[in-house]
Amino acid sequence: MSLYEELMALEKVQLVDASLDLCKKEHTFEPGALTQIRQAFQEREALCQQLDQKMEGVKVARTQAESAHVLNEERLQRALVKMEAVKKPAEYQAMTREVEQIKKLSSSLLDERLRQDEAHDLLQAEHAQQFAQLGQLRSDFEKETQHFTAVQSELSSRMAQLQQERQQHAESIQKSLLKQYERIRIARKGIGLVVASLGRCAGCHMMVPPQLYNQLQKGQEIVTCPSCLRLLRPEKSAGL
Ligand SMILES: [Zn+2]
Repeated sequence: MSLYEELMALEKVQLVDASLDLCKKEHTFEPGALTQIRQAFQEREALCQQLDQKMEGVKVARTQAESAHVLNEERLQRALVKMEAVKKPAEYQAMTREVEQIKKLSSSLLDERLRQDEAHDLLQAEHAQQFAQLGQLRSDFEKETQHFTAVQSELSSRMAQLQQERQQHAESIQKSLLKQYERIRIARKGIGLVVASLGRCAGCHMMVPPQLYNQLQKGQEIVTCPSCLRLLRPEKSAGL
């Protein structure tokens, strides 16, 4: 295989490398839509957990208020029974005051229970609404994730295919030339090999010194551009 043919094969490797670079870039890049929906879902999930905790707190407070009210009502019944048995006016007055206090407490305990009931109803309505929205967000998030995974897997198989293609082209190139190309490509923004035509390097657009240009046209040795250091290939194989 002539050097020109090797350089042509190298050019194909370079084309494949450019496609591989694009694939790799896409592969590591999570689309904004997915990031956004993930964030929205996680925020809503945290909010729903907070609501769950609040609801639990209200339930406990409601039960406590209810039991306290029941106990106080029992106390009231006992006091009323006791009052009926009282004969002395002074004792009766004292009992009346006690009954009044118990009634007052009972009423405030009932108020507390009603307040907790109200708080519970409000929270329950908000809970239902937030959980419905969380369900929608979860489904959107799952859909977006599935789509992303499908794209990723498509990219992976495309990259495997490209690697194979690269391997095929690289087989006919001397190892040292391939290594040189890879080094330059990394240093020179993804382009390690360029054509030189009409005396000019297509990479940096500088004139190649005539003697070097003639050397390149002869196709006997590897020539790099003195300005941008990229590998040069002659425009066509005529006379090579
Ligand atoms: Zn150059």
